[in-house]
Amino acid sequence: MMNCKANKSIECTVQQCANHCGSSNYCSLDCVHIGTHEANPTQDKCVDCKSFMLKG
Ligand code: SF4
Repeated sequence: MMNCKANKSIECTVQQCANHCGSSNYCSLDCVHIGTHEANPTQDKCVDCKSFMLKG
């Protein structure tokens, strides 16, 4: 993302996301929406960033 404004409160390593700050591992959004795809989440892999957008 050009002129990415890294939000130092949201670390993220998902380079494929359009909201990711390429050179640094932070999200550029002010706020992200976290959710789950499972009925009873028990591990970190059970939760997802719902603000993910595939880099175009
Ligand atoms: S929207 Fe979610 S997945 Fe995308 S960079 Fe931000 S925290 Fe990472």
